[in-house]
Amino acid sequence: MSQIITNLMLVRQRLELAALAAKREPEDIQLLAVSKTFPARVIEEAMHAGQTAFGENYVQEGVEKIQQLVKLRPWLEWHFIGPLQSNKTRDVAEHFDWVHSVDRLKIAERLSTQRAEFPNLSELQVCVQINVSDEHSKSGISLTEVETLCDAVSKLPNLVLRGLMAIPAPTTNVHQQRQAFAAVRECFTSIKVKHSNDVRFDFFDTLSMGMSDDMEAAIAEGSTMVRIGSAIFGKRDKINT
Ligand SMILES: *Cc1c(COP(=O)(O)O)cnc(C)c1O
Repeated sequence: MSQIITNLMLVRQRLELAALAAKREPEDIQLLAVSKTFPARVIEEAMHAGQTAFGENYVQEGVEKIQQLVKLRPWLEWHFIGPLQSNKTRDVAEHFDWVHSVDRLKIAERLSTQRAEFPNLSELQVCVQINVSDEHSKSGISLTEVETLCDAVSKLPNLVLRGLMAIPAPTTNVHQQRQAFAAVRECFTSIKVKHSNDVRFDFFDTLSMGMSDDMEAAIAEGSTMVRIGSAIFGKRDKINT
């Protein structure tokens, strides 16, 4: 059996065990396979092992792979999860199904307008990226501003506000991992409760958090979508991470 298929099975097993430990249903946690830096044929291999949702960090690289795999497009779901500059939003609006990394209204407005240029595409699913623990990171909006941004994004046509995404500062300390994820979950829940009678938040159901080294902590704190790269595809070249 290929290494990728073995790895996928192991990751699914980790997901199930973490869900059971948290008294959650494994079906409530989606696995996003982060394929950045890996070639299209590897994605195809993962697809044949039943994986359909893939995450990419770099617009040009992602679009190239989407085009290489265009024959498989109906079975694949493409998620853009990397930092997004305004001059790259059109390519994302044209090619992707999801964007996890919206952290400014301007980016969301561009995605909304540009998605309209592709009327055969369904609405773009978006998460607002929140900066929980890393003051040095430029990505993500602060906890205090996230609700205002969510409210504004929810009003834009051609987008569906799906939830929050976070990349806490890496740490091997499980207690610190859980603290950061708990902060994101609390923010998510408070927004959800506050907008429970608001149709614009009807699909606000996604907590995109957890990577190869902290997926158990993320699932314990309520993650509904873990983004897993190296545990599935292997180590990436340092320059390309
Ligand atoms: C690379 C990346 C991942 C996957 O990280 P691994 O540690 O390889 O699992 C998840 N999310 C984002 C935003 C990433 O850039």
